[in-house]
Amino acid sequence: MTAIPESLSPSIQSLGSSPTLQINELTAQMEREGRRVFRFGLGESPFPVPAAAVKSLEKHASANAYLPVAGEATLRKAVADFHIRRYNIEADPDLVMIGPGSKQLMFLLQLCLECEVILPTPCWVSYAPQATIAGLNTTLIHTAYEEKWRLTPEKLDEQLSGKNPQAQLLILNFPGNPDGLTYSSDELKALAEVCRRHGVIVLSDEIYAELHHAGEHVSMARHYPEGTIIASGLSKWCGAGGWRLGTFIFPPVLKWLLKAMCKVASQSHSTVAAPIQFAAAEAYSASDEIEDYLLHCRRILKPLGNWCAETLSAAGVSVHKPTGAFYLYPDFSPFREVLKARGVTTSKQMCELLLEETGVAILAGEAFCRPEDDLTARLTYVNFDGTAVLQASREVPLEQELDERFFRQQMPNTLAGVEAIAEWCQDLA
Ligand code: PLP
Repeated sequence: MTAIPESLSPSIQSLGSSPTLQINELTAQMEREGRRVFRFGLGESPFPVPAAAVKSLEKHASANAYLPVAGEATLRKAVADFHIRRYNIEADPDLVMIGPGSKQLMFLLQLCLECEVILPTPCWVSYAPQATIAGLNTTLIHTAYEEKWRLTPEKLDEQLSGKNPQAQLLILNFPGNPDGLTYSSDELKALAEVCRRHGVIVLSDEIYAELHHAGEHVSMARHYPEGTIIASGLSKWCGAGGWRLGTFIFPPVLKWLLKAMCKVASQSHSTVAAPIQFAAAEAYSASDEIEDYLLHCRRILKPLGNWCAETLSAAGVSVHKPTGAFYLYPDFSPFREVLKARGVTTSKQMCELLLEETGVAILAGEAFCRPEDDLTARLTYVNFDGTAVLQASREVPLEQELDERFFRQQMPNTLAGVEAIAEWCQDLA
């Protein structure tokens, strides 16, 4: 009998497991032990899928045919129209690709390209591992707290200058996971000039666009239409991560890439589930219900994010007020010396100590491609029942801002968790 050999590909052997999953396991274990845990480690929308989309899904439950690889025609049109309407950009339905989550589309993109992947950090957890699996080299450009974690045109230009003519894929993400911050139109314009000069393909991950807290998202395609692929999907703004529906919009000159990705898709996932695509077409159509839903999501997230940032700032943590999504990216370097005295020198050790001493779970900066000794972490401030909070927000007159009193009633656990971090910091100092 011949033993079955372990024959993992080298690029997989070097792959770590998802840090989000690790923290989930740890917190679940603590809960089993009866300890109070604040789950600030997840990256999921707390809000329900809007009712019209759910109804549409029910209506299309019997749709059982395989749909076209690039996506169902009415959905591709609805996605293009959505982007044209909301971001004032050009989008051709024939250049829209639908996939089972934008994550999968990003993976296919990296499989299809022969290029270097440029990642400003902190960046979302999956870009770099996907590049590794696809056998691509990654170049990190570290941004700083003082730069509001933004990539500057100077740093990008310096990175690209003198490079060999290998193709470059720059991945931007704004409003950003993990930082909750975004680029202004002027900042995008300046980056676009550098990208144009160096012929860079930009994958602009705008999955949190609709969760810009002021509803003022500007797309990279406004300034760099010829080289930008816009990634988005239903997961964040529509509370539908589990539906697995992502979108890419290509510029005309990159049609060859869309075709290549469709070839790979046809040999791998084929297409997205038919009922989901029909329901998504409904979600992407203009409607008062969706407007109302988004209005309330933003109305909750903005003052809540500000409250969390202010509370941490008052405790001496360096953190910017968010402009979108549901994340904060606190920097605990003001506590470097006191943490060092307790044997803590890395973000991972810091998060472990915080979890152990307060029950608060946040994700170490290391997971976002930051240097190990960077004392940063991501805090997701949505550990509440989004359905109930959305309902409660609808009962408060719109001219009234949601305030701390509302949050104490509706999401006491979120406030208590942030206050636990603040107290921990005060005790450290
Ligand atoms: N991009 C960012 C920045 C994200 O935070 C996520 C999900 O966490 C994704 C992409 C992937 O989203 P999906 O595959 O659900 O479309």
